[in-house]
Amino acid sequence: MPARGWIEVNDLYCKGCELCIHDCPPQVLALDMERLTSKGYHPAHIAKDGCTGCAICAIVCPDAAITVYREITKAAPTTA
Ligand code: SF4
Ligand code: SF4
Repeated sequence: MPARGWIEVNDLYCKGCELCIHDCPPQVLALDMERLTSKGYHPAHIAKDGCTGCAICAIVCPDAAITVYREITKAAPTTA
């Protein structure tokens, strides 16, 4: 089962350059055409399921606008 993740985009920093959108391997990002930041940009957001938490979007973002979270699944305890 693929890892699951999600991101938060900081509206103060995102300038809608789309670099993260182009480099996201599962192509789950898009500009949010419903919203504008205080600087007048459509910010990036997760538009569909499938984020793996790979963090490539955060690495390529030139403005450090993205925080990535990744779900950690704990292994079931084993009995001796
Ligand atoms: S963490 Fe990876 S899969 Fe998730 S939005 Fe960013 S680039 Fe895409
Ligand atoms: S790379 Fe960064 S600044 Fe560019 S659209 Fe994505 S979050 Fe916004």
